[in-house]
Amino acid sequence: MDERRSVSVFGSTGSIGESTFDLLMRQGGPRAYRTVALTGGRNVARLAEMARALQAELAVTAHEDCLRPLQAALAGSGVEVAAGAQALAEAADRPAGWVMSAIVGAAGLVPGFRALAHGGTLALANKESLVTAGPLLMETARKAKARILPVDSEHSAIFQSLLSEEMTSVERVILTASGGAFRDWPVERLVAATVAEASTHPNWAMGQRITIDSASMFNKALELIETREFFGIDPDRIEVLVHPESLVHALVAFCDGGMIGHLGAPDMRHAIGYALNWPDRTPLPVARLDLARVGSLTFRAPDPLRYPALALARQVMDKGGLAGAVFNAAKEAALDAFIEGQICFTDMAGVVETVLEDFSGRTGFGPALAPLEAVLAADSEARARARSVAERTGDKRWKSRA
Ligand code: NDP
Repeated sequence: MDERRSVSVFGSTGSIGESTFDLLMRQGGPRAYRTVALTGGRNVARLAEMARALQAELAVTAHEDCLRPLQAALAGSGVEVAAGAQALAEAADRPAGWVMSAIVGAAGLVPGFRALAHGGTLALANKESLVTAGPLLMETARKAKARILPVDSEHSAIFQSLLSEEMTSVERVILTASGGAFRDWPVERLVAATVAEASTHPNWAMGQRITIDSASMFNKALELIETREFFGIDPDRIEVLVHPESLVHALVAFCDGGMIGHLGAPDMRHAIGYALNWPDRTPLPVARLDLARVGSLTFRAPDPLRYPALALARQVMDKGGLAGAVFNAAKEAALDAFIEGQICFTDMAGVVETVLEDFSGRTGFGPALAPLEAVLAADSEARARARSVAERTGDKRWKSRA
């Protein structure tokens, strides 16, 4: 009998995927793990390397046009190969005891839901799943007796701070934020921020999209909603503090005036390793903190003018229902428009706000438990709307400069 632990990694060629692969290899690779499926996007060469190293049963690229190169790269390896969104969903139908959900964006939604249906453990890096369909995701996990473990560093930190605590004694949860690339820029300068400047994180090495989302704090906005959905905490008890050192990942304040915080080096392999080895702790290749050398830790309240995304997230939490799906889709489309040079860095929040306003009167926007089809429909409608708002915004911006 095969006694190895079965695992799948969705988004294995990304930043979280690479860290997951690193840990799987360090913890015994194919001797310790039966890799059911690895998935990637355009980075076919890396996906093939990983699939060979872990002797995966299946490798899937999200893009049909990448099928042939993937087949060529895996020829003779015995790894089954597939491509496309449907193939990704089918890969998630193959049961694995531990599944990493690390596709970026709403594309990670369907594979995550399909994987949950088997029970087991879903290590959730794809925060968009909770933002767009949190109540449904938690309900699906409950029904399937599946476990979701948070991988976002802040949520892993809250999870660890809450071990053996009663939720009724929690007064507040505080998410820390590095402040991103522009935390010390004059606000007036942000309008001219370039994609390259926004893609450089002061503390963490992450994928480009989440790095830009850190600079705008759309990432923290998603995390506010993620905290609400995962831990069931009221929005007015979730706070954000700018903490430039990124060493305290989150704090929980209790009713007796005490606080428990979680500290660690900014290395995602801690949170990933924690989710991989839970409920045990295993030595991880993460730098140890030397607090005497660090000397001091600083905190400040986020400036609402610099980070308008935080107020938008609070509107979304007030509305509930499909507001999260609309917010995330509009944010993703606005981010695309910024990366493509269509709009400025500071235009992204305006695009998202306009789309949220457009949808706010709709039925079904409210606090019902929306089914997945409704979430996906809201996602594509909001995405299309955001693209046209971004186009208009960009036209105006460039005309006014001409
Ligand atoms: P990356 O952009 O580095 O990687 C994304 C992965 O998803 C890659 O494997 C990519 O493939 C794949 N992918 C891209 N587009 C699609 C698509 N349309 N369909 C299927 N797969 C696709 O992202 P990160 O690793 O930075 O982030 C992954 C998730 O984890 C995000 O939800 C992010 O918010 C979350 N997260 C990330 C953190 C980090 O430190 N990076 C921290 C906390 C959460 P390819 O590259 O081959 O094209």
